[in-house]
Amino acid sequence: MTAGTSILEAITVSETEGRAIPDAATRETIGYAPVHTAADLEGMITRARQAQPAWNALGHDERSRLLNAIADDIEANAEELAELLSREQGKPLGGLNARFEVGACSVWTRSAANTPLEPEVVFEDGGSRAEVHYDALGVVAAIGPWNWPMMITVWQIAPSLRMGNTVVVKPSEYTPLSVLALVNIYNRHLPEDVLSVISGDGEVGAAMTAHPDIDKIMFTGSTETGRKIVESSSNNLARLTLELGGNDPGIVLPGTTVSAIAENLFWGCFINTGQTCASLKRLYVHDSVYDEVVETLAQLAKTMPMGRGLDDASVLGPLQNEVQFDIVSSLVDDARARGARIVAGGAPAPELGPLFYQATIVADIEDGAELVDREQFGPAIPVIRYSDVDDAVRRANDSDQGLGASVWSDDVDAAVEVAKRLQAGSVWINQHGGLNPMVPFGGIKASGYGQEFGVAGLKSVAAPKVISR
Ligand code: NDP
Repeated sequence: MTAGTSILEAITVSETEGRAIPDAATRETIGYAPVHTAADLEGMITRARQAQPAWNALGHDERSRLLNAIADDIEANAEELAELLSREQGKPLGGLNARFEVGACSVWTRSAANTPLEPEVVFEDGGSRAEVHYDALGVVAAIGPWNWPMMITVWQIAPSLRMGNTVVVKPSEYTPLSVLALVNIYNRHLPEDVLSVISGDGEVGAAMTAHPDIDKIMFTGSTETGRKIVESSSNNLARLTLELGGNDPGIVLPGTTVSAIAENLFWGCFINTGQTCASLKRLYVHDSVYDEVVETLAQLAKTMPMGRGLDDASVLGPLQNEVQFDIVSSLVDDARARGARIVAGGAPAPELGPLFYQATIVADIEDGAELVDREQFGPAIPVIRYSDVDDAVRRANDSDQGLGASVWSDDVDAAVEVAKRLQAGSVWINQHGGLNPMVPFGGIKASGYGQEFGVAGLKSVAAPKVISR
């Protein structure tokens, strides 16, 4: 990149060479992403394999130093990255959105750099001793989604690089520019071919996961694609971390003070306009507070500003793409047709742009409705009434998904007891979806397997080796 060139100018290719990427809110073209092919992939994986031994030989201290320099550089370019992300993904700059996501990129990069991982002594009896060491695996394939494209890419690449692996990243076709921009910053600091990005479609992703020279696949996306990756990994025996979304339940316990949880509850559902793997997707509320919860959420939904991401007032944005817009519309229409009560929203907002859908609260709805049983991945939350906590726990667990869950109560100890009975990789009390780079995160059941973040995340991109003497 030459002085005075923006990151977008540095990553975008010409109109004839590339694929037009629209602004999620206005649908105007932002730039052109390269169209890479299977032949490009072959070259990238070969070069990543060749670059890996020297990268590994640099050692943890030097790799950590480089990752910390990358985190500094992300911070120095934060506003430009956030604007590009906001335009491409649609999320507003403010709130828990684009600036927040870019901030998380530097935080998670730094955490991967600075988390200690020493060999573990697992047995010692005076005469003999066994230690577990963690070595690099080789080449990691990182395949990401379109909802938090920069942050999830960092979750995949930063620990992988720290552990001495080289990485080839495949972003979602919907959000390649955000990931190209992030990789552009990383590559100002990394040796050549340690990190590359293949801007191709699902077929390129499939070729990547089946490639014999891939040692580990970090994947975040749909359960359906996750299943295909499991199948293709039977050939290369690549290690897998699969984060496959969820249909997270929340349970509000009897007698909860609604005003105390209202804002957290709303953002637990509507963070990133509902397009978040671990956001609250079906809310079970005890009879004693049901009407108050529904009314409070409806008031918040009606008053939270929705609009173009670059407008400073916006805290909610559009759906990122037409497919997702259609899913959300059809799930709400189905709920309405079943007799559910639409308390706020319930329709598109075309005056804002083609992919905007109003923040929607749906009451008097039951399990069995599609909006409850399927992941909506958008700004529409079903609120389900219950009268018996055991029954709410049973219904919350009656899902093939198991990413996150939450329990809401004035009595935190009582909430923890309920949390112990919920089937999910993470359960939050009086919040939903809060993540910390040192706290392991991952799903169970059809939400996937493997943990990210902290020491567990570093181990997940390493090969354990036992040395006994
Ligand atoms: P996908 O699972 O189709 O896509 C995720 C990533 O996988 C993309 O980079 C995609 O590339 C790639 N991919 C597609 N097919 C293959 C394949 N056969 N082998 C390897 N990689 C492949 O998710 P979608 O974006 O289509 O979203 C579908 C649904 O998934 C949403 O409605 C939502 O419910 C859920 N979802 C969950 C997310 C989460 O955070 N867990 C994030 C996004 C979506 P390409 O885009 O080029 O096709």
